[in-house]
Amino acid sequence: MKIICIGRNYAEHAKELGNDIPSEPVVFMKPKSALLQAHTPFYYPEFTNELHYEAELVLRVCKNGKYIQERHASNYYNGITVGIDFTARDIQDECKAKGLPWEKAKAFDNSAAVGKFTDITPGMNMKNISFSLKKNDEVVQTGNSGNMIFSFDNIISHISNYFSLNIGDLIFTGTPAGVGECVVGDELELFMDDKSQLKMEIK
Ligand code: MG
Repeated sequence: MKIICIGRNYAEHAKELGNDIPSEPVVFMKPKSALLQAHTPFYYPEFTNELHYEAELVLRVCKNGKYIQERHASNYYNGITVGIDFTARDIQDECKAKGLPWEKAKAFDNSAAVGKFTDITPGMNMKNISFSLKKNDEVVQTGNSGNMIFSFDNIISHISNYFSLNIGDLIFTGTPAGVGECVVGDELELFMDDKSQLKMEIK
């Protein structure tokens, strides 16, 4: 499996990091080794001094495909949850300044934490899924899929022009405004439609 991530998919977040609003999805990937396994502790990586959380809606791919048309895209994912795209912001800033790839900042071991998946049912309004992140019991990020610049179906269609999608792949769909630092001892809890999906501590 692979993890495909979208950057700058919420206008307010693009602005907070001083980036332009993209005209097409910004895409990067994390390898399988980036997935934080359930019940595995997350340790603060030793190579960064500025670890950021980014709460995001995550889709689960359920069908293999390539060159997927947007109108068929919803057949290719069947589960949704929230996750954290952990980012070594200091390393990312360095990479960006030098025009280098982001992998060291974004794709390191355990940098993708994923909550419990909810099966997508025909009645679900995929354009109105709210989610939030609490740090030490205080809400630090809230988002809604209705505010994404590129919709789920648009993302699926776009990335499938470059990368075959395979059953079990995960897609991180971008973070809303409010990203920030976390330190050892912080407790993070992710919610989707007010239901707790993942609780973890930075060790
Ligand atoms: Mg992100």
